[in-house]
Amino acid sequence: MSSDLVWKIAEDHKVKLKDYDPDFINKHVVQEQANAEMERLDQELSELQELLAAAQQNSLLMILQGMDTSGKDGTIRHVFSRINPQGCYVHSFKQPTDVELAHDFLWRVHTVTPGKGMMGIFNRSHYEDVLVVRVHDLVPEDVWSKRYKAINQFEKLLVDNNTIIIKFFLHISKDEQARRLEAREQDKDKAWKLSASDWAERKYWDDYQKAYEDVLSKCSTEESPWYIVPSNHKWYRNLVIAQTLVQTLRPYKDQWRGQLEARGRKELELLAQQRQSKEPS
Ligand code: AMP
Ligand code: MG
Repeated sequence: MSSDLVWKIAEDHKVKLKDYDPDFINKHVVQEQANAEMERLDQELSELQELLAAAQQNSLLMILQGMDTSGKDGTIRHVFSRINPQGCYVHSFKQPTDVELAHDFLWRVHTVTPGKGMMGIFNRSHYEDVLVVRVHDLVPEDVWSKRYKAINQFEKLLVDNNTIIIKFFLHISKDEQARRLEAREQDKDKAWKLSASDWAERKYWDDYQKAYEDVLSKCSTEESPWYIVPSNHKWYRNLVIAQTLVQTLRPYKDQWRGQLEARGRKELELLAQQRQSKEPS
């Protein structure tokens, strides 16, 4: 377990969520400086997105999972606030339709993976097929238990096609979830966010934690890593996710710039040739 700002899960590491504190704040991170740092990161992320979009060599797939109220929507709103909407989209996975259920579980996922140059954000994902599906026995164990391997192979296919995958598990405590659900009840303006089913789902907390432990233990690889994000503090969650995204994309910067410069040179040469051939001899 490497402990920096968030926890990156090493391949085959057996995760016990009790070992990860949802209240954790790295001692080098100062809350008073978080806004300024977030500004800087948003700016850098926006520049990286522009390069990603222009270079057309890679795509980014960011997967967000977490218990109800863990902050998936809030993360998207804050971390992607400066991103050009043309190069980015969010897909929220809901209960599958009849047509989707008539196919294999990855069918609906593959059609919405980001193409080259795009940033795709999954609000929930194919991991629901080993989370909610497992917790509520929606398919038999011999069906869902084979899905971890299928997921790893699927993500490898995406990585082999130049997709940069980054997966965040927003880790909150059970007490924090209660506080957030109660706050939604108290605040009339936020009551629309309430879902009676969230309280019902909370009864399965331990089953979900166990299902998440299996996801994190079985489906984190060097090329498609899971990060556990301490998410009881919203400001910290946003900051460290932005930081991790920027750190993941930054190493590609030179390669994308190089590609763009080469393309620019080629276009200039073509233009020069075109002009030469038009000049009267
Ligand atoms: P929300 O994210 O609050 O809009 O809720 C979406 C709901 O869809 C959640 O209750 C998920 O558990 C559910 N959901 C997403 N994917 C699946 C799936 N593959 N099978 C069953 N339920 C799902
Ligand atoms: Mg919900």
